[in-house]
Amino acid sequence: MRAQNQVDRCAVCDCDTVYVQKDFNRTLGIGIFLGGAVISLVLYGFDLIWWAFGVLLACAMVDGLLYRLLPDVTICYKCHAQYRRVTSRAENQPFELGLAEKFDPLDKGPAAENPAAEWHGR
Ligand SMILES: [Zn+2]
Repeated sequence: MRAQNQVDRCAVCDCDTVYVQKDFNRTLGIGIFLGGAVISLVLYGFDLIWWAFGVLLACAMVDGLLYRLLPDVTICYKCHAQYRRVTSRAENQPFELGLAEKFDPLDKGPAAENPAAEWHGR
């Protein structure tokens, strides 16, 4: 992990499978979406159709701007440890549901990497 400030293994659980996503507060994202939708509907109700579309366009632009400006965070599939301000690594890809299911704590199958019996919560 410390070599070149890249995450190749989780420092907490030693798992070698991590993913990368934008470091964005989900509550804020949902708030922007809901706020824009409600304001747009109210404006539409008052027959201010172009203003309603303008609000939706502004929300989309804010979303796009945040996506470009915000840094990435690297997250461990197994223990959900988060690593910020690390150098990107080609092997660390975006979230994959198939990989996440492999580490699902509710998976009680013998092939599970993280069976429920070993799960101690986050
Ligand atoms: Zn981990």
